[in-house]
Amino acid sequence: MVETQILRARAGEITPAMERVAERENRDPEFVRRQVADGRAVIPNNHAHESLDPMIIGREFSTKVNANIGNSETTSDPEGELRKLHTAVHYGADTVMDLSTGEALDETREANIGQSPVPVGTVPIYEAVKRADDPADITRELLLDVIEKQAEQGVDYMTVHAGVLMEHLPLTDGRKTGIVSRGGSILARWIEENGTQNPLYTGFEEICEIFAEHDVTVSLGDGLRPGCLADASDEAQFAELETLGALTRTAWDHGVQVMVEGPGHVPMDEIAGNVERQREVCDGAPFYVLGPLVTDIAPGYDHITSAIGATEAARAGAAMLCYVTPKEHLGLPEEEDVRDGLAAYRIAAHAADVANDLPGARDWDDALSEARYEFDWRRQFELALDPERARRYHDQTLPGDNYKEARFCSMCGAEFCSMRIDRDARDADGEMTDIGDETDLDGSPAAEVNVPPVGTHDAGRVPDEIEIDGITFTPAESHADD
Ligand code: SF4
Repeated sequence: MVETQILRARAGEITPAMERVAERENRDPEFVRRQVADGRAVIPNNHAHESLDPMIIGREFSTKVNANIGNSETTSDPEGELRKLHTAVHYGADTVMDLSTGEALDETREANIGQSPVPVGTVPIYEAVKRADDPADITRELLLDVIEKQAEQGVDYMTVHAGVLMEHLPLTDGRKTGIVSRGGSILARWIEENGTQNPLYTGFEEICEIFAEHDVTVSLGDGLRPGCLADASDEAQFAELETLGALTRTAWDHGVQVMVEGPGHVPMDEIAGNVERQREVCDGAPFYVLGPLVTDIAPGYDHITSAIGATEAARAGAAMLCYVTPKEHLGLPEEEDVRDGLAAYRIAAHAADVANDLPGARDWDDALSEARYEFDWRRQFELALDPERARRYHDQTLPGDNYKEARFCSMCGAEFCSMRIDRDARDADGEMTDIGDETDLDGSPAAEVNVPPVGTHDAGRVPDEIEIDGITFTPAESHADD
């Protein structure tokens, strides 16, 4: 049996995955090894996922972004799912979660793992629900069977809602929105109908043995996360967190890498406290947060309401942000929603990395600002988080090639362009000597972390095409602005 990254790290070994991660993050390999050994960071890296370019999740490293993809019962289209995977990776997702609950689960998952250069996560209880006649009929054996099969397929991390306990359920009674996690609500119903403890909790050690065999990272799901501001930071949420802390230690005892999932919907002033509490209760295991949304009033714009919270969470130490799209609470996201959600979350992650003074993080900002002040439009587009959109917006009003040399844009116009006026004034009195100094982005410690438009990824590893059932899909079919 090949051992897990955490066991090899504890034994003092620097694995090829740790070497690669150190290279991507510009960190010392020994520092990476210690972070993994101590459980402060994880490298989701199933032995069977051959197309993976290893990455690391931990508060000492660049903040990562997950994109959820996957079909639903009402919208099932395996080819569309692969296009979403491609869109997600193209726009910088550091991991993807296949949350499919519709048809062709195995085929969709296998195709995703076969194509994905980023870790693929799943929530195995969704497949268990599909295989049981009734969710209340799910057995521990069925759950273990699903988990083992997905581990063999190459899933890099799995969300397991093992912290939802029978004794926690009454604590949710006074909530405005009850239990909003899909996994949490399924398990709560199972517990109530069967009158016994959560099978993911009672079977957790067996689950850990499967995870250890394949090096699947466990993502401890927060099944009782708040679904609105009024329910945030309540007794049910924190009772589950205590259980997640105990399960973290159990998983570590089995040599399994662990991250812990967090809320959800949280007012701004409670976010840092939530992150701090998770760190204490879960002994520094990486925190993977969904948003959180900082207000409940803006369906249709929840990529924004949640990116605000995600920035605050990452600033306080969350290691990975699960993106939210504009479709949250309203419908299954489509490709353009995936793009908008990822842009919002990559901005959140980068803003936190700059504020947390991550080595070299601000170099990207400086390089773009210099290009802007130089009126180097092509360089601006190239450096933009979403180059295709930046170019398209500029060209909507000034499409000609001659405008790529222009010392203004259509916002203020030539006469009132403040940067042109300022530059001319400085040129005239000879003060321009060091304003245009160029940031050497290629030589920056953040060079690989921040290469647009593919986020933290080696662009060479992003597939140009995806083929399924003899049909080839290319980026041009999926990116409206290309
Ligand atoms: S016209 Fe205004 S917005 Fe456009 S480059 Fe000049 S200062 Fe910036």
